[in-house]
Amino acid sequence: MAVTDHVDFPTFMEGVKKRNPHQPEFVQAVQEVAEDIFDFIEDKEDYHSEQILRRIAEPDRVVSFRVCWEDDAGNIRVQRGWRVQNNNAIGPYKGGIRFHPSVNESVLKFLAFEQTFKNALTGLPMGGGKGGSNFNPKGKSVREIMRFCQSFMTELYRHIGADVDVPAGDIGVGGREIGFMFGQYKRITGEFTGVLTGKGLEWGGSLIRTEATGYGAVYFLENMLKHRGESLDGKTAVISGSGNVATHAAEKIVQLGGKVLTLSDSGGFIHDPDGLTQEKIDWVKTHKTHRRGRISEYADHFTGATFHPDATPWNVPCDLALPCATQNELLGPDARALVENGCTAVSEGANMPSDLEAVHVFKDAKIMFAPGKAANAGGVAVSGLEMSQNSERRAWKEDELQAMLHDIMDGIHDRCITYGDQGGGYVDYVKGANIAGFKKVADAMLAFGVV
Ligand code: NDP
Repeated sequence: MAVTDHVDFPTFMEGVKKRNPHQPEFVQAVQEVAEDIFDFIEDKEDYHSEQILRRIAEPDRVVSFRVCWEDDAGNIRVQRGWRVQNNNAIGPYKGGIRFHPSVNESVLKFLAFEQTFKNALTGLPMGGGKGGSNFNPKGKSVREIMRFCQSFMTELYRHIGADVDVPAGDIGVGGREIGFMFGQYKRITGEFTGVLTGKGLEWGGSLIRTEATGYGAVYFLENMLKHRGESLDGKTAVISGSGNVATHAAEKIVQLGGKVLTLSDSGGFIHDPDGLTQEKIDWVKTHKTHRRGRISEYADHFTGATFHPDATPWNVPCDLALPCATQNELLGPDARALVENGCTAVSEGANMPSDLEAVHVFKDAKIMFAPGKAANAGGVAVSGLEMSQNSERRAWKEDELQAMLHDIMDGIHDRCITYGDQGGGYVDYVKGANIAGFKKVADAMLAFGVV
């Protein structure tokens, strides 16, 4: 006779902690989802008897490998690389590659877990994965980065494929690195397939992929405001980060009539009370991407702006906040400062930038809070569209893709409302996103039986 295991939430989390020692980011990500899922599945026997949540919280596989490369001085360097394939119930594994010294198995498992729900929310057929290395691209020459990317792909290629697992960029991995990795994949296999997204436009990339995550996070914000009868026009916004997501979020806010007051990097933040203009944002993009500069130099370049070393921007009074740098960059006290200073909406451009305490502060204050798995899904959505274009051997026009991105972000917002509307005009977007993402993956898993 089958034994139906109805464990309660604390017991479930105890098990997750025990099975994943020293992996706090992964445990945190599972806890945030499980808090909502336990209520939802309480009366749904199939999800219990088939142990769906327990199975989603165990990656299909974690591949770990050595990456050797030679630096410009002739020294042999050894890094560790990973690919975490979390779940492919609704499509090939899909998720970015991150190069940053803070990368470890816990960080990549949390990102792959989150990616599973995010990808389901887009409505496109993509499973969840994530990969990367503790390689630090800062200060490396272009040749060193090329040699590293080639060595990384020399192992990764055997685990990926256009219908198996399709990686993309993330922190430290932009168009240049995707180019080096795609070149190596093509060299080893002899195949030109859509095995990576974020490719250059000349060789299979999609228009608006670069802009999609930041733009999408602002479209989601716009949807939340519209749902309450408000708009972005005239609102002040505080943004962290100064990379791909942050600069494109800033650009879209300015285009829609908002005023962006801050950007940041790991050295601190700049505060520009006059607001960023398109010209200033373009300067940041060139400065950070092509000159590999620091955000502190913004304050030397633009009068009226100030640089605040070793600080985050969350104490600057604002209407809107967009954390767009990295995980756990917005903590409980930061969230309290934002709420006390009148912030009414938060849209997470980064993955899990708010820690659990901060999420609870936002929920208790009942402000509009869009978790990353909903708000930043625009990037992977356009990656999904890049896969479709590669399969069709054609390229869609920019206005077609813009319309599709807008439509996908609207769809994610609707799905969050379906499961997150708490009545009285308050939507719990965390709950909505978690349940909508979970349900799609869970129902596919039920169809497959125990595999
Ligand atoms: P980039 O590498 O382009 O930029 C990252 C930015 O965050 C830089 O300004 C960097 O500063 C800052 N940053 C990184 N680590 C830290 C840290 N520990 N403390 C403070 N600042 C830090 O990355 P993206 O813009 O692509 O990614 C940003 C976030 O968005 C990540 O969480 C990523 O997972 C998420 N995301 C990205 C998507 C994409 O399409 N690119 C899609 C969905 C989510 P510095 O220069 O000093 O390192």
